[in-house]
Amino acid sequence: MTQTMNQPLLATASLTLAAAFALGFAAQRPDSGGVQAGLGYVSSAQDAPDVDGVDVVLDSAHSRFAGVKDGANADYIPVLAEVDSELFAIALVTVDGEVHVVGDGEARFSIQSISKVFSMAQVLSQLGPDALLEGIGVDATGRPFNSIIAIEEFQGREMNPLVNAGAITTTGMIPGADADAIFASILANLSGYAGRELDVDLAVCASELASNQRNQAIGALMHAYGLIDDHYERAVEVYTRQCSVSVDTKDLAVMAGTLANGGKNPVTKRQVLDPELVPRVLAVMATAGLYDDSGKWLFSSGLPAKSGVGGGIIAVSPGRFGIAAFSPRLDAAGNSVRAQLAIRAVSDALDGNPYHVTPR
Ligand code: GLN
Repeated sequence: MTQTMNQPLLATASLTLAAAFALGFAAQRPDSGGVQAGLGYVSSAQDAPDVDGVDVVLDSAHSRFAGVKDGANADYIPVLAEVDSELFAIALVTVDGEVHVVGDGEARFSIQSISKVFSMAQVLSQLGPDALLEGIGVDATGRPFNSIIAIEEFQGREMNPLVNAGAITTTGMIPGADADAIFASILANLSGYAGRELDVDLAVCASELASNQRNQAIGALMHAYGLIDDHYERAVEVYTRQCSVSVDTKDLAVMAGTLANGGKNPVTKRQVLDPELVPRVLAVMATAGLYDDSGKWLFSSGLPAKSGVGGGIIAVSPGRFGIAAFSPRLDAAGNSVRAQLAIRAVSDALDGNPYHVTPR
């Protein structure tokens, strides 16, 4: 991973993804539901998938992609380079609250940019959709997640909450008396989606606070364009703490499952987001969840998703399930190679693409 994420340094990774897709995935897609195919099981109904089938599908995807070595850990946050690159876990949570995990499910890692989804949801809840539309925007930048050029192009506008400039602006909009109070409300919000009390990985936080000069520049630039108030340095600090929150793959799947279940945590049964706001969140994930590769991702999977440079990715099959995968090696855009492969394979096997409809 380069310091700036502006140079594609792992072009082979995306080629490999494309090849894997061409070779394997299309063949696994069912013509209609209810047939044995590829990974062994295909759901026939547009509802929560069958429990036994899910375990078979997860196991198959895990063993199929465990040998993929493409990509590299992020290293522009120094501590991320030290994470075991072989870690690999997949988790799926149905809207009925069934939890399935395979692989290194106990491994904890930093949530990174996946947190942006839930802080966006918090702003939607607390300030309303217009505040998001006007204060940040909901358009794809088509640029790397930490692009300065994207800010310059429209003087800080035409952005979205899932790239760093928009996400730092998001944390700058969340009400609170000081950094601790704002962060406490962000952490409580994230914990509601996960269904347990989350906390910060202090080593990641320290490493990122010591190396986040680029994000400091982004915060200052957004302030200069009038989109973040005088507390822009505080916004960057709170954003950095938010990215350092520690999760496991199951936590992420529960968070995704909450979005799949109309904003109600399917495990704790707590309504954490107004169902009316969920489609807005999913729309921005579909538009910009995998940065400048968001179009490619949506084209091949159909799933609103979000990645983080810690190696996690979440994806949502609305009304059916949330899925998460974790593996630290990233492609040139900063998206986990194995997590993309695994999520797409699992979703395809369970007929998870919301755009796929069997004609009547
Ligand atoms: N904290 C990271 C950063 O600001 C998050 C980036 C990411 O996960 N894409 O660079």
